[in-house]
Amino acid sequence: MMSVDEALELMLARARPLEETEQVPLNDALGRVLARAERSPIDVPGFANSSMDGYAIRASDAALDGPVSLRLTQRIAAGEIGAGLSSGEAARIFTGAPLPDGADTVVIQEDCREDGGVVHFRGPAVPGDNVRPRGNDILAGSEILAAGTRLRPQELGLAASVGLARLDVVRRLRVAIFSSGDELVQPGEPLFAGAIYNSNRYTLGGLLSGLGCEIVDLGRVEDTLEATEAALVAAARDADVVVSSGGMSVGEEDHVKRALERTGRLEMWRVAVRPGKPLAYGRIGAADFIGLPGNPVSTLVTFCLFVRPFLLRRHGVASVQPSALRVPAAFAWPHPGRRREYVRARLERSADEITVAIYPKQGSDVLTSTVWADGLVEIREGKTIEPGERVPYYAFSQLLS
Ligand code: AMP
Ligand code: MG
Repeated sequence: MMSVDEALELMLARARPLEETEQVPLNDALGRVLARAERSPIDVPGFANSSMDGYAIRASDAALDGPVSLRLTQRIAAGEIGAGLSSGEAARIFTGAPLPDGADTVVIQEDCREDGGVVHFRGPAVPGDNVRPRGNDILAGSEILAAGTRLRPQELGLAASVGLARLDVVRRLRVAIFSSGDELVQPGEPLFAGAIYNSNRYTLGGLLSGLGCEIVDLGRVEDTLEATEAALVAAARDADVVVSSGGMSVGEEDHVKRALERTGRLEMWRVAVRPGKPLAYGRIGAADFIGLPGNPVSTLVTFCLFVRPFLLRRHGVASVQPSALRVPAAFAWPHPGRRREYVRARLERSADEITVAIYPKQGSDVLTSTVWADGLVEIREGKTIEPGERVPYYAFSQLLS
């Protein structure tokens, strides 16, 4: 059985970044991965401007400690261009308006009194105060976004701020999913005796949408070798990556491993992780195959641990590993395990500290634990934990995006 680290290393080594790109308008670029670095064609701001509402002056007119009075010669709002400012003059100016030639400083309006075309305030003024110099944020020619960046709202804003209307992004991965199991029934339909509702289909759909994948949903596949082989072949023909849930163990009703060996190549099977041991990676034709365990918590957890970094890497993202916070445990873990465990956990805030608690039922069938939780605590092989000890905590906000 492979360790979590070995399994992840094997899978990431096989995750070839997609080469096809497409150009999309900014409005469609959220969550996509930038295909190449972007440079700014302009300085931002393109002109020195006021960061406050106030009065633009020459600091040399107000160098001394004491009262200053300057003649008001103009009014400049954002989007307007003023006339040059001479010594002894001031301009009424508003936030974002270009500084007139000759001015180098803005005195904020709260410190000024205007009276009959003259503005009065107290010196000294510090040169450059309340002025945003040209290029303060971005210099023309500089790299503003690196290749492989996942575009969040702030990246879209930055691209817009330099005037880019479209971005080159990596095309979306097509991911085919199917759920293996004769017992699975669609929500909305009646349960027959011994049946359960197919929940993994919806968990997986949500997880893949969150990663910006295009989903080919093949629904449920019955527990026979023939049906499983047919599903694998059809899925691999149509998608870059095939992800299945269930049927991954060694029982007579588990056909996915065998079907993969007959239609493609199994490269990894069984990982020392809990929940989620029966995890597989392989290839069918040009497609990757990832077989997830059927237990609903195992499906979610193994997706977060293995499928997410794999798909991010295939999308060309460089940094794919989540980072853990180290939080004091509000629980004890007295019995060391042989597999690395990912325990459904939640941050608890009291007046002066944050601790992490775990759900009392940690079975891989207890989907309510995942809804109660806001993340996972990692417990390494052979480890026990005392209350108060710091443990690695991975937030779902990071794992699910
Ligand atoms: P398996 O991996 O096929 O042996 O399934 C392990 C457990 O997970 C069994 O209790 C299955 O009924 C359950 N299971 C498998 N697939 C799903 C699914 N798509 N939705 C909900 N439960 C499932
Ligand atoms: Mg099954």
